[in-house]
Amino acid sequence: MNVVIFGPPGAGKGTQAQNIVNKFNLHQISTGDLLRNEIKNKSEIGKEIEEIISKGDFATDEIVNKLIKNIIHDPQKKNKLIFDGYPRSISQAKNLDLLLDNSNQKIDFIFFLNVNKDTIVKRIEKRKILEKRTDDDLKTILKRYDTYMETTMPVLDFYSSRTYFYEIDGSEKIEVISSKIEQIITV
Ligand code: AMP
Repeated sequence: MNVVIFGPPGAGKGTQAQNIVNKFNLHQISTGDLLRNEIKNKSEIGKEIEEIISKGDFATDEIVNKLIKNIIHDPQKKNKLIFDGYPRSISQAKNLDLLLDNSNQKIDFIFFLNVNKDTIVKRIEKRKILEKRTDDDLKTILKRYDTYMETTMPVLDFYSSRTYFYEIDGSEKIEVISSKIEQIITV
């Protein structure tokens, strides 16, 4: 089973992905974490990524697609993937279909966590205190939201007619959302 968790920044994608990983023994692919790792490890592209993320922009498709390609082709993770924060653009969504198709896999569930802007801002400001992410200050949050609306929202149209697409109210409590997702997966 492969799962995509989709939604705006601060929707709770990472939290829900973690829960599904634990319950269903999947592997989480968080492109945000992969990118932050590159920064931490001071890799060649780490510096470039740091500048992009701190401005609230998106890393280039080239960088992100490269990061996920090897994971998708890893036989140990085949059909056990949960994508958190990918795809974030139409071209990434098309690339994901292609990569999965090339390795005889498919998406089984897409969960769209729908949350409004006010809730997002409040949540991320709280997270800033806990996780100290440099891209969680107010100016960058608002920029990330705009980038989401402009580049990521169109992916919703691309996905929403698929039979395995589910919209979930992401403003509910963590446990309520988790249980809704689990119910859908186990039916
Ligand atoms: P996240 O941890 O998912 O909130 O991602 C943090 C930041 O990493 C985003 O604001 C983007 O700058 C970058 N990022 C994460 N995933 C992607 C992606 N699929 N494509 C482009 N940039 C990404």
